[in-house]
Amino acid sequence: MTSRNHQLFEQSQQYIPGGVNSPVRAFKSVGGDPVFFQRGAGAYFWDADGKSYIDYVGSWGPLILGHAYPDVIKAVQAVAENGLTFGAPTEAELEIAQLICQLIPSIEQVRLVSSGTEAGMSAIRLARGFTGRSRIIKFEGCYHGHDDALLVKAGSGALTFGHPSSAGVPAETVGHTIVLDYNDIAGIEAAFNQWGPEIAAVIVEPVAGNMNLVAPSSDFLAKLRSLCTQSGSVLIFDEVMTGFRVGLGCAQGLYQIKPDLTTLGKVIGGGMPMAAFGGRRDIMQCLAPLGPVYQAGTLSGNPVAVAAGLATLKLVQAPGFYEKLEDRTQQLVDGITAAADNHGIDFCAQSVGGMFGLYFRKDIPTSFAEVMQCNKEAFNRFFHAMLNEGIYFAPSAFEAGFVSSMHGDNELNKTLSAAEKVFEHWQDK
Ligand SMILES: *Cc1c(COP(=O)(O)O)cnc(C)c1O
Repeated sequence: MTSRNHQLFEQSQQYIPGGVNSPVRAFKSVGGDPVFFQRGAGAYFWDADGKSYIDYVGSWGPLILGHAYPDVIKAVQAVAENGLTFGAPTEAELEIAQLICQLIPSIEQVRLVSSGTEAGMSAIRLARGFTGRSRIIKFEGCYHGHDDALLVKAGSGALTFGHPSSAGVPAETVGHTIVLDYNDIAGIEAAFNQWGPEIAAVIVEPVAGNMNLVAPSSDFLAKLRSLCTQSGSVLIFDEVMTGFRVGLGCAQGLYQIKPDLTTLGKVIGGGMPMAAFGGRRDIMQCLAPLGPVYQAGTLSGNPVAVAAGLATLKLVQAPGFYEKLEDRTQQLVDGITAAADNHGIDFCAQSVGGMFGLYFRKDIPTSFAEVMQCNKEAFNRFFHAMLNEGIYFAPSAFEAGFVSSMHGDNELNKTLSAAEKVFEHWQDK
């Protein structure tokens, strides 16, 4: 029996490289056909054959309210009727900019863009323009979009494909990028000792979510803050994933560290293509039209995307929203861990706010190298067995997972029963 899903994948491969429009969507890492989806509602989505799944990917992070949340859809519909784009400013952009500045105190001014990649590359250019320096520091396993200068031993799709960096990136382009190990304090101190006065920026995921999930050690972010302050380097928190995902104050609120610039994406677009970068006023004022650092976008601040973002950011401010999301996510990882323990499987898991990591190894990893020690074959088996049970996790052992506010007791119980069943038959094969 040939499924509709399989047919679509076969045909898509004719017209789209690999049949997908972003490499992590391919099941290259776990094997098999990627699932094509046709509709979603709340915690569920349905594939081309009509099979339903509980979704723990949430479009890779944006869908904190689940699929097709009525208020978000209504906001989009209402705005779309009045025109999709003007290429000129609108009141809603002011409203979302004010809201972002109010919710994230380190952001005094913000500029809207259309993707996290744009936010990251623009923040780097701005930091270089502001400081007049060229060198930047990034951490192995962190992903900041596919800008050339940042595609150095990148995680996510590039990691899945086993290439430490992409072809097509000239060596000169990454020649100013220093790559260090996440959580390696001695490494950062050494880098600042050697290059401090030449370092324009340090860019970091304050909770790394593109090499599975790696949390920052208690003094890692504080050390980055103090070293950047000392040497006049710009500290950039890439909160494209963690922004409004780990808490209303984002990761910088959770860990009480104030970056100079922040990049946002995913949740702030509520499922539409929108991202942003912002921070200190003196830095942001170096941007065109005020300053010499060029940055632009035809569809930046797109009214429909802004409407989805505003509706989402209004809803996540409900009292207790993040406490509930955090509890639910913790219950999920505790439950899966208990099921694995019951059957003597080497497994551990952790969560931060509404994001989580599952690891087929004994201890929680703290670096890219430790993440790489996870048992990938075990993950792949788990992934496919859970998929079969109607539970959709990210199709790679090297991605974080996401819970939405629509994941209730029912979805949690279904997921944990499926995990128990899968682990019960773990030795069968
Ligand atoms: C997803 C992501 C990006 C890239 O965002 P796109 O919208 O896919 O370009 C950048 N940084 C982090 C931390 C991300 O998770």
